[in-house]
Amino acid sequence: MNFQELSKETLASILEQERAIYEAYKAQGLKLDLSRGKPSKEQLDLSLPMLEIPVWQDKDGTDCRNYGGLFGLPRMRTFWSEVTGIPFENVIAGGNSSLAMIYDTIARAMMFGNVDSTRPWCLEPVKKWLCPAPGYDRHFRITEQFGFEMIYVPMTADGPDMDVVEEYIQDPTVKGIWCVPKYANPTGITYTDEVVRRIAKMKPAAQDFMVMWDNAYAVHDFVEEGDHLLDIFVEAKKWNNEDLIYYFSSTSKITFAGSGVALMAVSDRNIAHLEPYYGARTIGPDKLNQLRHLYFMPDADVLRAQMKSHGAIIAPRFEMLLSTLERELGDKGIATWTNPKGGYFVSLDVMEGCAKRVYALCKEAGVVLTTVGATFPYGNDPKDSNLRLAPTFCKLEELEPASAILACAVKIAALEKLLQD
Ligand code: PLP
Repeated sequence: MNFQELSKETLASILEQERAIYEAYKAQGLKLDLSRGKPSKEQLDLSLPMLEIPVWQDKDGTDCRNYGGLFGLPRMRTFWSEVTGIPFENVIAGGNSSLAMIYDTIARAMMFGNVDSTRPWCLEPVKKWLCPAPGYDRHFRITEQFGFEMIYVPMTADGPDMDVVEEYIQDPTVKGIWCVPKYANPTGITYTDEVVRRIAKMKPAAQDFMVMWDNAYAVHDFVEEGDHLLDIFVEAKKWNNEDLIYYFSSTSKITFAGSGVALMAVSDRNIAHLEPYYGARTIGPDKLNQLRHLYFMPDADVLRAQMKSHGAIIAPRFEMLLSTLERELGDKGIATWTNPKGGYFVSLDVMEGCAKRVYALCKEAGVVLTTVGATFPYGNDPKDSNLRLAPTFCKLEELEPASAILACAVKIAALEKLLQD
């Protein structure tokens, strides 16, 4: 029953029914949270045995209780190299947060410029940044804080709209782009080979342009056959473009969120350029944590098994959310949503001008959603239609009412709008 095709009388009567359902949910005084992409307790419990491992000496004799190892334990770098195919020498194993590494990378460019800058970015009178949206709110916070003019680039089902990107990079004040190439936050899509290739061969007017390749969900499939992402370094090398690529990831959603190991990868030339800056900032990362990770997860096969266990916990939650959306909204013509094979998010697009209303209705009935607009630069969703849904943290039994309340709110907001128009 497509709402768009119904008479006002029918719409009004459906609205009355939905309001009654909504009031009944509201009366239950629920407290549910679909707002942040956090692992559930069951997922965190998977890695508890890691805390029982009393190791301090690595297999090569390194005493991890002591200073040293600027770019992390060689075995940790080798581990990530084995998982991703990125050469060992280009991988840096850092502290507890890839977001902190990302922030540092921009902050360093602001203070010193990057390997190809002629001056620090803080001296640039105008600097701009490409922000594919919906995207990751914390990325946008960084570029906003450092004073970039953030340019909205539409996200498509294949990745950022590359026609728009290729147009904007003609402007030498455009210094970089945010990318979450696999199971993107929040759309859950993976960049197609064509999009990766177009990014890899870009020739931006800014000689010190940076592609911030945040592969936070590199191994986070929750179905058997996950998405495949092309290796950006291999593609960029073909165009002599590897210095543009700044790759990030972490084990935050493999082991412990916020207590994992952050990973970064850059070209040979960038590694050499970064070393003195790294060396001035720290004597080395937390090697004991890296060592614990290596004992817990010694190779790529164990990592894959760990991700399967995560998948078994996560998949039913996504299934619950998605099946509720399909059942309640599938034929109504008032919303569309993504159907990812991995990652932490579903992106829901409701009727234009309705997202804030859906958010408010959900809040009133005890369901917290990510703030509307957070997934867009400056917190401004031009269509007021996108909602980011994060189903992993809720208990499965909580997800059932949370999804139902959400679907009910989407219907109420749409019916109100259709009756107004
Ligand atoms: N990058 C993306 C795209 C994320 O979604 C997140 C967490 O939600 C992070 C980075 C944070 O990673 P970390 O815990 O390594 O700082």
